[in-house]
Amino acid sequence: MKSILLLLPVSSYRNEDFLIAADKLGVQVIAVADNCPQLAPGWGMGALSAVPFDQPLLAAQTILENLSGKPNAVLAVDDHGLELAALLREQLKLAGNSPAVVGLTRDKLAFRHLLQEHGMLCPDFMSLADEIDAHELEELARKLSYPVVVKARRLSASRGVVRANNAMEFIGAVRWVRAIQARADRESQELGLVVESFIAGREYALEALLNDGKLQVLALFDKPDPLNGPYFEETIYVTPSHLPQTAQTQITEQVERACCLAGLSTGPVHAEMRINDRGIWLLEVAARSIGGLCGRMLKHALGMSLEEVLLRHALGEAVPDATARNASAVMMIPIPKRGIYQGVAGLNAALAVTHVQSVLITAEPGALLLPAPEGASYLGFIFAQADDPASAELALRQAHRRLVFEIQTEVPLALA
Ligand code: ADP
Repeated sequence: MKSILLLLPVSSYRNEDFLIAADKLGVQVIAVADNCPQLAPGWGMGALSAVPFDQPLLAAQTILENLSGKPNAVLAVDDHGLELAALLREQLKLAGNSPAVVGLTRDKLAFRHLLQEHGMLCPDFMSLADEIDAHELEELARKLSYPVVVKARRLSASRGVVRANNAMEFIGAVRWVRAIQARADRESQELGLVVESFIAGREYALEALLNDGKLQVLALFDKPDPLNGPYFEETIYVTPSHLPQTAQTQITEQVERACCLAGLSTGPVHAEMRINDRGIWLLEVAARSIGGLCGRMLKHALGMSLEEVLLRHALGEAVPDATARNASAVMMIPIPKRGIYQGVAGLNAALAVTHVQSVLITAEPGALLLPAPEGASYLGFIFAQADDPASAELALRQAHRRLVFEIQTEVPLALA
């Protein structure tokens, strides 16, 4: 029986889908969690828990000390564990991208340098150290050409990404993004932020697998909602893309080139890009698969779950080509405001919309909801399938309009 070591962050949406896929494939799972497994009883008694994924050296040592036997593969189910997974594979002498390469793709500043050095389309960018004082920041704010985007270095799901249209907004954005990064990344101070010029254009995302540096495309997604800021929460993804085949081929070539330049040669790839009359601008190329529950929209085209595809790929087994028979779309239901989630009405009405496949509310009653740019989660997901992309997209919007979320204003703690 083959075995796979899975890095399962407690906050991930996808743990269950990976465990179901492993079960289906008859693969033994060595579960490693970044928190207490009692929170997720399905992970089994043998799970190694409270492993700090964000301290890969320490975490790798703990895992290796507790490991009996060598797994056939190591996989991080989400971006939190990517560097740790790469380090474990290196130490266990398993094939995979090196920790340095994975680290490079997680770092938005390093990725910008890579694009610039190799003459790929890249916005003007700069690194902004945490030490810069208020006076220097004001001086910089006066010199910049607006609009710009201020970004945390290695957060995901648009967390800590804010557009600024003038000097005042810029200074506010820097303070805010710094605070977000400080809460979310233990190396926040050393990292500083990235500031780059705003790229106008439509946005797309590519889901693929790398085989010896060659991209096997699983899907190209259109993001039909304009993402102009000031915050960039994800909403709808639709596939197949409306782009002509030539543009789709160019996207694949650009992503493959960036992977090659970065040194990525195997495993899942999720890339995001903007297109305008100057060409294709890569926003990110990550060594992971699509986040949230969005991968479920590909099940039909793949003939199996995306998680099964990823496990097969990690174990060196054959993976089917995607054959899109119809259009598929997902909405990551955005959080409209900060507050305490109480519940939702209109689920049945939303489900009754033609082409809607499922509506999954993932927010837990009582949870504090944080909208973009502070949060990295959604209220839930709506899935639709139709003969054409426009009908699938429309179904999502209609279903969403039928959902009524109750979000209570947070009452600040008043300590006597
Ligand atoms: P994350 O990895 O958190 O998703 P990204 O760098 O991909 O961070 O940025 C998140 C979103 O912010 C992008 O999908 C895009 O909509 C927007 N964005 C980021 N950088 C720019 C930019 N330079 N110009 C325009 N939009 C941007």
